[in-house]
Amino acid sequence: MTNPILELHDICYSYHSLEGETDALSHISFQVNKGEFLAIVGPSGCGKSTLLSIIAGLLLPENGKIHFPVPQEEGIDKHPAADCPRIGYMLQHDHLFEWRTIYRNVTLGLEINHQLTTEKKQRVMELLKDYGLDKFKDKKPGELSGGMKQRAALIRTLALDPEILLLDEPFSALDYQTRLSVSSDICGIIRSAKKTAILVTHDLSEAISLADRILVLSKRPATIKCDIPIHLTISGHSPLASRNAPEYQGYFNQLWKEISDEDHMQTSKSIQPGS
Ligand code: ADP
Ligand code: MG
Repeated sequence: MTNPILELHDICYSYHSLEGETDALSHISFQVNKGEFLAIVGPSGCGKSTLLSIIAGLLLPENGKIHFPVPQEEGIDKHPAADCPRIGYMLQHDHLFEWRTIYRNVTLGLEINHQLTTEKKQRVMELLKDYGLDKFKDKKPGELSGGMKQRAALIRTLALDPEILLLDEPFSALDYQTRLSVSSDICGIIRSAKKTAILVTHDLSEAISLADRILVLSKRPATIKCDIPIHLTISGHSPLASRNAPEYQGYFNQLWKEISDEDHMQTSKSIQPGS
C-alpha cells in the first residue's frame, strides 16, 4: 500500500559560480512512503548530497516541486501547514562539539529550538540508556569511540523527533568492523522508532542490507537510473545476516552492473580525445 510522506516532482538543480555552471540534478521524481527506508546510491559527485539538501529545504530547486502529503493514518492536522514535516539531517561526520559533554551535545538541537523541557530531557535520557551511552553522558566526545560518537549524533537528531531522517554517508568515517555494528544498531533504532529514512551510501552491501528500496542515480547531472525494491527472506536487517540471504548476491550484481556502467561511461567520456 502506498502512503507517501514525501514526493519529488521533476526536480532540477545547478550550482552557479564564477567558474561557470554545474548541473547537479536533472528531472528527479520519486516518492517515499511513511516508515520506508530508502537508500540512494550513485557515482561520487553525481548529486546525492545536493538531493538531500533540497529535501531538507537547505537548497531551493530551480525547477520542480517537493510535496509532503499528510500520511493517511495520522489524520489531517499532523503538520498544520500541511507542507513540511520535521526533518532530521545526519551527516558523515558527527559534528559533536568537543567543549560540550555528550549530554549537552545531544540536547543542543532542543536547546537551540527552546524545547528543552523536562519531558524532552527524560526522552533524551531514555535514548542514551537504550543505546548504551547513559554512562558516558558526562564525557567529552574525544573520550568516546567513533561508533559511540555516531550513535550520539543520531540521538541528537532523534531528540527533535523528526518524521523524516536524512542520512548522508553517516558511517563512512568508521572502520569496517565498527561500521557493520553501528549501521546495524542505527538501522535497528530507526526501524524501532518507525521513522521514514533516506540513506545516501556508496556501500552497496550496506544499501541492500538496510533498505526497503534502492534508488540508483546516474552520473552528474543525476537522473534516476533505476528504483529497486529489496526483499530479503531473513528476519531483521542485520548486515551480516543479510549477506547470507539467498537474494543478496543477485541484488549486489544488479547494483554493481548499474553503477559500473555509469563509471565506465564517465571514464570513457573523460578519455575521449579533445574532451
Ligand atoms: P555527491 O554527494 O553525489 O558526491 P554532491 O551533491 O556533493 O555530489 O555534488 C554534485 C556536484 O555539484 C559535484 O560535481 C560537486 O562538485 C558540485 N557542487 C557541490 N556543491 C557545490 C557548490 N557549493 N558549488 C559548486 N558546485 C558544487
Ligand atoms: Mg555527498
